[in-house]
Order: sequence, then C-alpha cells, then structure tokens
Amino acid sequence: MTTSDPVHDADSATEEVGVPALLRGKPVVPGAVTAPVTWVTARPALPGPDATVPEDRRDAEFAAFTAAVDAVADRLSGRAETVDGHARQVLEATVAIARDRAWAKKVKKSVAGGQAADYAVRQATDDFVAMFVKAGGVMADRVTDLRDVRDRVIAELHGEPEPGVPVVDAPHVLFADDLAPADTATLDPSLIVAVVTEKGGATSHTAIIARQLNIPCVVAVGADLRAIPADTPVLVDASAGTVETGVPADEAQRRVAEAADRAARISSWTGPCATADGHRVQLLANVQDGATARQAAASVAEGVGLFRTELCFLSETSEPSVEDQAARYAEVFAAFPEGKVVVRTLDAGSDKPVPFVNAEDEENPALGVRGLRIARGNQELLERQLDGIALALSQTERRGPDAQAWVMAPMVATVHEAAWFAELCHARGLTAGAMIEVPAAALLAEKMMRHLDFVSIGTNDLTQYTMAADRLSASLAYLTDPWQPAVLRLVHTTCRAGSAAKTAVGVCGEAAADPLLACVLTGLGVTSLSAATPALAAVGTQLGEVDFVTCRDMAAAALDADGAEEARIAAAAVIGL
Ligand code: PEP
Ligand code: MG
Repeated sequence: MTTSDPVHDADSATEEVGVPALLRGKPVVPGAVTAPVTWVTARPALPGPDATVPEDRRDAEFAAFTAAVDAVADRLSGRAETVDGHARQVLEATVAIARDRAWAKKVKKSVAGGQAADYAVRQATDDFVAMFVKAGGVMADRVTDLRDVRDRVIAELHGEPEPGVPVVDAPHVLFADDLAPADTATLDPSLIVAVVTEKGGATSHTAIIARQLNIPCVVAVGADLRAIPADTPVLVDASAGTVETGVPADEAQRRVAEAADRAARISSWTGPCATADGHRVQLLANVQDGATARQAAASVAEGVGLFRTELCFLSETSEPSVEDQAARYAEVFAAFPEGKVVVRTLDAGSDKPVPFVNAEDEENPALGVRGLRIARGNQELLERQLDGIALALSQTERRGPDAQAWVMAPMVATVHEAAWFAELCHARGLTAGAMIEVPAAALLAEKMMRHLDFVSIGTNDLTQYTMAADRLSASLAYLTDPWQPAVLRLVHTTCRAGSAAKTAVGVCGEAAADPLLACVLTGLGVTSLSAATPALAAVGTQLGEVDFVTCRDMAAAALDADGAEEARIAAAAVIGL
C-alpha cells in the first residue's frame, strides 16, 4: 500500500531537528508502506478533587457535563454509521455507556454536592467499574469501555483532543505507545496502513489486532519513536522491522513496490520447500486440533511439525479416557494421511495450565513442574497419552514413509529423561523424540540422540531459558529474541550433534516463522521448519531464493554477532538486504 499524498514531502523530515533516520523494532506483520505519521492521542490525566464548585455555578457545571457527553456520543454515533459488523457494535455499545442514565444521575448528584464535573465523572465511573468487576463475566469485560467513555468525556470537558486513534481521511501510519482494545475497533486498513508501537511484544494486543487485520506492524521500537512527530512521512518495512524517515519519495515508492512484488510471489508459492540449489527442508505446520490440522493440510504445509496436545484439553477438569484422547489425535493424523505428524505429549503448566494436570500453584511455574516433569510423578498419565496416540494411529489410514507417528516430549532436560521417554514410546512402536528447549538439552543433545530418533528445537522456550527472560514479558522482548547469538549457538550445537548422529533436527518455535531466520537455521543444519500455517509460504519463498552455501554464510554471520539486532543485520547483509 502506498500514499501519493503530494503535500507530504519526504525530504522535509530530514530537516526536523532530532528526528531519527532509522529505528528498529520487532517485525510482527510483514509488508512495506510509506505514509505520514498519526499518533494515538494520549488519555487525559485523571482529575483529583478540586475546590468545591460554588452553589450558583453547579447547574452550569452539570450542563457542561451533558454537553460533553453529547459531543462524545454524537461523534461515536457518527463513526458507527460509517462502519459495519463488530466495529459498529463496539461503537454503539460505547455510545450507550456514554448515554447511561444511572451514570449521569451519579454525576449529577456529586455536582449538586459541589464537586467539579470532571472529578464527578471519574468517581461515578470508579463506582460502576467496582460494580462491574464484582459482577464478573461479561460485565467485567466492559470495564475497559467504561474507562474509555470516562476519558473521552473528561478530555472534552478539558477542551483536549479526543483520546485514542485520531480520525484521518488519508492513509497514515499509526504510532502508539501500545494500543488498547478500545483503540482498535475502528482501525480501517485502508486508512491506517501500518502500526508501529514503542512498547509491546510479538504477543501484545497490538500484535494480535494487526495480525487479524493484516496491517503491517512493528512493535517494541523503543522511546526514540516519540521523536518522530505527527505528519512526518515514514517508510515502514515491517518485514525487516524498520521505520525510516527522510527517504526520498521515489525511493520509498520503489521499496514499497518491491515489497508488493514479494507479497505476490509469496501468495503464489506452492512448494516444495528447498533452497535455490535444491537443498530440501521440510516445511511443517504447528497445530492444536483437527480444525487447525485441516487448515494446514489445505496450505503449503507438508505435515505437522508440532501438535500441541495440551491445547486440546485446556478446559478439561478430568482426564479424558484413552479412547477420547485417541479420537482427538486421529483427527490430526487424518488431515495428513501421507505427511509427517509430530505429536507433542502434554506440555501442561506455566503459561498453559491444564486443570486435570496442574493442581498446585507454583512460585515460578515456568521453572516448575511442567511438560515431561509432570510424568515423573505420574507416569501413568504419560502412558495413557502414548496409548491414546498409538490407538489413534491404528484407527487412521496412513501411507508412505511417514505413516509412523513421531512423538516428542516437551521440557526434556537430562539424558535419563530422554532415554526413559524413548523407551516408553518404542514399547508402543512410536518414533521417539525430544524437544530441545532447555539449554541443558542442547548442550547434551549428542548424548540424548543415542536414545532418540529425532529432536525438535523449541526456540520460544530455548530463548526464554537461555536469556533468563520471561517469554510473556513485553519489557523483556529485546532479550526474548531468537536471533540472540547465544540461542543460535545452542541451535548450532544441536545441529552438529544431529549431523554426526544422522538424527533429524527440526525447529518448531516462532523462529521458524521468520523467513530470514529460517535461512540461518537451514545454514546451521536444521532439517525441518514448523510454524503457524499462515507464515509458511513466506518462509518457503525466501529459502527458494538463496543457495545452501548462502544459508551457511548467513548462519556464520549471525553466530558471530554481538547481539540479536546485529545478528539479523549481518545475516540480511549476506543477501544484500
Ligand atoms: C517452544 O517452546 O518453542 C515451543 C514450540 O513450544 P511452546 O511454544 O508450546 O512452549
Ligand atoms: Mg516450549
């Protein structure tokens, strides 16, 4: 997408004092655009209890409140008329809150008692928030909307601009600290052509919304973003995670056109996945049930590289029978009658607690009894799952060299655990593997491979544990980056072990979804890549454009870097990006 808005001359941005020429963040949704910036307007400061309003001015104070409510509600209603579906519902519900009589009555009572209208609005909203939170469920979900109305009305009372996403009538790049759900209801991809945030991580609300709307998005750019004022023309390359100012308009347009070409190549790519000189890499999908497996089967995926079985059971309070489990697993096998299917045994715990498995609260659940560790105290649970997998396999018609089920354990940390798990799998005729996601497993991969038939590197957790940084923490996103050379070195160690032992080494973490990193992983010796289905075609396209020796050069450059950003830049430089 581009803008041809002639009033925004790209060269003028360079003249701004202190405007950074290039900023880098985390790429979330690929694509390149050029357009001027619009900033999300900050929420107003919440008022405190000011001096009492004199009695003769209280009617006027309440009239100011009703005028502010009218202005806010009219604006939102006007906007609701221009959109359909969910966005319209969200806006109409917000209007209904603004016009709520009980809320206005509370404000009126406080103002009659001498409070300023803005503070009365704050207090009345606080009372409703407390009530809604107590009621729980759907009511509690409305708290964000209540606060949103409060902020809009207070801003109006103060004569400040309306908070949230400004209304624009030409394409703009939206800059924000981070986006709140209420900011995003009316994001129109034809007007907001990219989203860039100072904070946030790959799993932040902004990232989720941008993925849903397919708006190019870069997050976690850092505080320097604030130095780029509204209306500055920027070039956002959300595939590389860069935001540039001062790029001459013709060059910006050329780069946007190149990105559009690339998008077209990706959407027409059909596989199979190999480097330009024919080095094959299996391209697999991460799935969580029959539906996502069928979606994968309809895509370029050759099979399933990670079936997260715990996600089938997140709301189960009692353990499903072997037969019930088999029925779930069989759906996934059936989606790929000839393709490889790698089933991961329950990775319950930490950020994915399963009610019938994780009974106790733990101080540090990410370092606690999760994954295979649960089976140490409850081997029968694991055995029943393996029986369920074997039963599902026997019930499904499967053909070809990958007819066998590949089964792997999460959170393997010792050689003994690997050997124990492999024995249980082999006793049922299952191909046995381990996830390499604890640094100890990467360091001992060579010994583990004496027992295992394959390994698959979980770069999400491997990064979390290597960098000692919570993968869910937005403020540690700069550490939980799989480009961290320390993580890549552990991948390299694992691949060297795999090549010596002739054992397949896959990657099934988010790293496999990054086309550039996929080249590095291939160069390091990874033999299969598994990622969310929508990410696969971009990975396959990128690999098809480089030779294997180039992948090796990219890997060497990344391994040798001092940090994640340098690793990405060094690898990109090898192919002239
Ligand atoms: C990983 O840790 O990289 C992985 C693939 O597993 P999960 O994200 O389910 O922990
Ligand atoms: Mg993991």
